[in-house]
Amino acid sequence: MPATPDAIETAPPPLTALSEDEKFFQFTVRKFAREQIRPYVREMDEAGVFRQEIIRQFFEMGLMGIEIPEEYGGQGGTFFQAILAVEELSAVDPSAGVIVDVQNTICNNALLRWASAGQKAKYLPRLAQNTVASYALSEAGSGSDAFAMATRAEDRGDHFLLNGRKLWITNAAEAGFFLLFANADPAAGYKGVTAFLVEREFPGFQVGKKEDKLGLRSSSTCELILDNCRVPRENVMGEVGKGYKIAIETLNEGRIAIGAQMIGLARAALEHAVAYARERKQFGKPIADFQGVQFELAKMAVDVEAARLLVYNAARLRDAGLPFLTEAAMAKYYSSEIAEKTASRAIEVHGGVGVTRDYPVEKLYRDAKIGRIYEGTSNMQLLTIAKKLIAR
Ligand SMILES: Cc1cc2nc3c(=O)[nH]c(=O)nc-3n(C[C@H](O)[C@H](O)[C@H](O)COP(=O)(O)OP(=O)(O)OC[C@H]3O[C@@H](n4cnc5c(N)ncnc54)[C@H](O)[C@@H]3O)c2cc1C
Repeated sequence: MPATPDAIETAPPPLTALSEDEKFFQFTVRKFAREQIRPYVREMDEAGVFRQEIIRQFFEMGLMGIEIPEEYGGQGGTFFQAILAVEELSAVDPSAGVIVDVQNTICNNALLRWASAGQKAKYLPRLAQNTVASYALSEAGSGSDAFAMATRAEDRGDHFLLNGRKLWITNAAEAGFFLLFANADPAAGYKGVTAFLVEREFPGFQVGKKEDKLGLRSSSTCELILDNCRVPRENVMGEVGKGYKIAIETLNEGRIAIGAQMIGLARAALEHAVAYARERKQFGKPIADFQGVQFELAKMAVDVEAARLLVYNAARLRDAGLPFLTEAAMAKYYSSEIAEKTASRAIEVHGGVGVTRDYPVEKLYRDAKIGRIYEGTSNMQLLTIAKKLIAR
């Protein structure tokens, strides 16, 4: 039975239905990614370096300050728009996706929620216009158990002295600003963890070794060295000892964007597989004519669509101010699973050429692997989901 006009008017829109603004934004980012990033993807992957010029264009287009209000020089957009941007960029290059992801959904987001008025006035215009940001929580000895960090912050009155090392810090090679966590009261355990706003030029701060990675090769991942790094007291974000809350809640949002990165990647793998299947002939016809190949493509399409629904739902919940913790964990868990599977299937559809660097799918396969590791491993997502299930 068709729905009545009243029912249609009051029904919430379908998850994948975009507003006119969202459609325009998506189109603009897609066009930019295809025209301005795609020509350099292979070169950047091989060199392990992301082009500064593209980062400059990210700022110029407002892609580094999507949710930052216009009064601070940002776009005054939504979290959902940031998700669309990460998906579109990742469909061309997942390294491009993660740069914009960390800036918007983690760093800018944290400042918007927890920074003081003075901190916002000082840093948000820079983050929107010219300064790349990093989020520095992990260390060699503390990954999943993030609050077991060894980096210490010593209270010296008008400043803190930070000592320790951070590891795996995305964007660090390019960043001028670091949202960094250190423990100011180790005896209090996680209740000593404090969030600091650290500038690259602060004395005692240094960016260390850059990792040579399997995938996301052009996105920088570096060590940070804090050797009596002097951070003014006014650069503590939120309260001393309340950084654990900032770290957790920021990652809860950020992992929706990792889901977006993974659906962009999976979508690209599917598109490449479809295009190749139409072209490649065996037994006198395109391999797309064989039902065995068609079914592989169909299964990939189902996975991408299901993952997109999870990601969009979590993002829409977040923008609506509704609880989204479990949904975000599901979105990240599932999208990263299917990204790896879809990229792997896309290679198989390509046959032998799929594993060569002459075709884009081997890179997508390499890039997919990290999705199940960073911003909380798949096991950590399952823990979050299971906790909710069994809570009384
Ligand atoms: C490319 C890249 C970029 C990154 N970017 C950043 C960044 O910008 N900022 C930042 O702070 N960090 C970053 N990280 C760090 C990332 O978040 C950690 O690598 C991740 O949280 C996992 O920590 P770990 O590597 O120490 O693995 P571990 O925590 O040692 O985990 C190893 C294995 O043990 C499993 N495991 C651990 N504990 C449990 C448990 N309780 N139950 C079940 N299984 C468990 C894990 O699931 C995993 O399979 C990045 C990492 C990489 C590789």
